[in-house]
Amino acid sequence: MEDHTKIENITIFWGRHKGPLIYSNTFVIEHGNTTIIVDPGGESQELKKLSDQKNFVVNTHFHGDHRRLNYLFTKSDFFAPELDAPMIESHKHFIDAVGITDEELREQWLNVVKTIYHITEHRISGTFNNDEYVIDKKYGIKVIALPGHTKGHSGFYFENASLTLITDIDLTDFGPWYGNEVSDIDTFLESIDKVRHINSQYFITSHSNRIYSKEQLLPLLDKFAAHVQRREKALLALLKSDSNLSLDELATYGIIYSRNTLINNPALMFFEKKMLEKHLKKLGIKTGV
Ligand SMILES: [Zn+2]
Repeated sequence: MEDHTKIENITIFWGRHKGPLIYSNTFVIEHGNTTIIVDPGGESQELKKLSDQKNFVVNTHFHGDHRRLNYLFTKSDFFAPELDAPMIESHKHFIDAVGITDEELREQWLNVVKTIYHITEHRISGTFNNDEYVIDKKYGIKVIALPGHTKGHSGFYFENASLTLITDIDLTDFGPWYGNEVSDIDTFLESIDKVRHINSQYFITSHSNRIYSKEQLLPLLDKFAAHVQRREKALLALLKSDSNLSLDELATYGIIYSRNTLINNPALMFFEKKMLEKHLKKLGIKTGV
């Protein structure tokens, strides 16, 4: 498969998964002499070449896989959703939003963020909210707020191509990801529902490597959203078998991530617990830790 696809004035660089690092699709929009790069998350050499000039770099939300190559664009101006901008400007806000409170873990996380992911802090030149245009109306990039994954998590409608980016409503077999302190299950589900009603010819996510028609998209959205119910059912079944199970114990059953991937992986275990915690809260169930 080609590493990029062109549709009207947009070039999509497909994110590649290499080893444990996560990548996202990158969108390069050409408008006259202006180049706008949405989520520099890929590894393409062509993308790296763009960093020689002054561009506009736009992030859909604060997650590292969507801003892996931000650090290359030293001459560019940065734009982000208003609610996620503080986490891109400061690692402290980033870690707070993830929800790590333990000092030692915060240090470890910061070290991984800097040395393995090369994520850097950036001053944000401009922010955006739902229904606004990114940077300027003339570029035809309309914001569709899709909160839940993070508070500021945004999709975009690219008017020229009638293409809608639904970002991390990514239709994967894993299902919705709401493992940060700032994530919210119900809001995520509302955003999935919002996508069902978007009027657009084509749709694309940040992590799959194809473009969908609306017809193709709708059943996949249902399948994606159904993971939330599946997880909730599994959790309730476990608690039915033993209502005294603590959060730590519940997290060893592999309800969200598979059991094998959780072994010796404290980061995934952290997210497993965060996501289970949110399910328990949604169900109004209290457990010990
Ligand atoms: Zn994300």
